[in-house]
Amino acid sequence: MNMPQEKPRYLVESETGQWEVIIGLEVHAQAASKTKLFSGAPTSFAADPNTKVAPVDGAFPGMLPVLNEFCVRQAVKTGLGLNAEINLFSRFDRKNYFYPDLPAGYQISQFYHPIVGEGYLDIDLEDGTQQRIRIERLHLEQDAGKSVHDLNPHSSFIDLNRAGTALMEIVTYPDLRSAEEVMAFVKKLRMILRYLGTSDGNMEEGSLRADVNVSVRRPGAELGTRVEVKNVNSIRFIGQAVNYEVQRQIEVLEAGESITQETRLYDPTTGETRSMRSKEDTADYRYFPDPDLRPIHLTLDFIESVRADLPELPDEKRTRFMEDYGLSFYDASLLVGDTVTPEFFEEAVTHSEIWLKENKSVQVSKLVANWMITELFAMLKKEGKEIEGNPITPAALAALVDLIVTDVISGRIAKDVFQEMWHTQQDPKKIVEEKGLVQITDVGQLGEMIDSILEANQNMVEQYRAGKEKLFGFFVGQMMKKTQGKANPKLVNDLLKEKLNA
Ligand code: ADP
Ligand code: MG
Repeated sequence: MNMPQEKPRYLVESETGQWEVIIGLEVHAQAASKTKLFSGAPTSFAADPNTKVAPVDGAFPGMLPVLNEFCVRQAVKTGLGLNAEINLFSRFDRKNYFYPDLPAGYQISQFYHPIVGEGYLDIDLEDGTQQRIRIERLHLEQDAGKSVHDLNPHSSFIDLNRAGTALMEIVTYPDLRSAEEVMAFVKKLRMILRYLGTSDGNMEEGSLRADVNVSVRRPGAELGTRVEVKNVNSIRFIGQAVNYEVQRQIEVLEAGESITQETRLYDPTTGETRSMRSKEDTADYRYFPDPDLRPIHLTLDFIESVRADLPELPDEKRTRFMEDYGLSFYDASLLVGDTVTPEFFEEAVTHSEIWLKENKSVQVSKLVANWMITELFAMLKKEGKEIEGNPITPAALAALVDLIVTDVISGRIAKDVFQEMWHTQQDPKKIVEEKGLVQITDVGQLGEMIDSILEANQNMVEQYRAGKEKLFGFFVGQMMKKTQGKANPKLVNDLLKEKLNA
């Protein structure tokens, strides 16, 4: 493997000096498909035990697997979404091992010839930079069933509903360097899978789980012995498992001992990893081509038909949002995290009358983004709601923004209108009319009000004129109080300056 020479991005300080953390991931993503990889049995998640099992999933003698073309398509689509090479030739192998939830005694996987080769994914770091993480391969394999140990004190049960479900195993090169990077990788991967529609990426339901390989080394040294932490099923736990392993390995090495290559399990209740078994070697699995399945020969036409079906992916969408709507990198990033939010945003912008009339004024799009990121997201969070089916429609948000842009209401008043819209689902125009919230923009009227405020606060006016400029805010406050927030803030500012400096 060809590792690029690079400066360490992240170092852990300890008493004996610095350590570099090296992490590689093997992510299992359940392919979104109605049926299993080699049978027509449904893949429904919640069902009575052993009700979604075709004879071949239960390894009944003489049953033959039949490859599900849709799963192949999903794997290829994922590969293209990860900028990866698609292999025209791939093949299934048997990975032999015994486990009660694996009735055949082997898992059908792709070992020698995976369907997808090298690719990459750019992760987004908190400081706004990106880091490219290389992907080694993606292969198709079947999932195992589930052993159930907690129903009866004397027996265990086997549920084969999950047996035979298609998994895409995505393997990275050991390019990750910190818990933050690993978490960013899983987030980005999940986002891409969801955009592509190739996996629902639900970690709580086990549709996405990661084996985290961790080692440490002195900066610039050879790669150290790695430990594999199996099946971690939340992004937070993945970060915690990495940090725990890093500390544990540093302690072992600093005590003059060496790391055993092994498989460990992360226990979320203690925040620790513990040894599960020594790491098996490839040879232990006696891989060989599955004689029941023919190799996959993909045609270029097939690959192109999948490519034609690719949606715009998060990074492209973010760039477009910056270019077309004048959004900052940060704001655009906040909007493209899932697929529904950017749709809502674009729908709202295009519903704005001002956007249409003023030839795509970015004042509108920036305001829509702003109102979504601040008020809307805050309300969703507060009430535990999703953007889908939230009480404010894109058209209603557009109408509110138009009222602000055309100076009918001030931003301050708009917050109240927004709350009213959320709770009553009324049209913002109607709320503004009924509650008499229209902004006061009559210069004569505002001027008179200011005169009377200055009149009543002679003392303050003198102090202000003597140099106490902080008092400016006081006068603005008085105006807002007098008008219940309805005075146009810019006009108030201008008029106040004019009169105070006269
Ligand atoms: P397996 O775990 O099935 O034996 P590999 O040897 O290909 O498979 O490695 C699996 C994962 O371990 C990959 O994600 C790879 O990047 C990562 N890895 C390999 N060597 C190291 C290392 N020294 N430190 C951390 N991760 C590593
Ligand atoms: Mg492994």
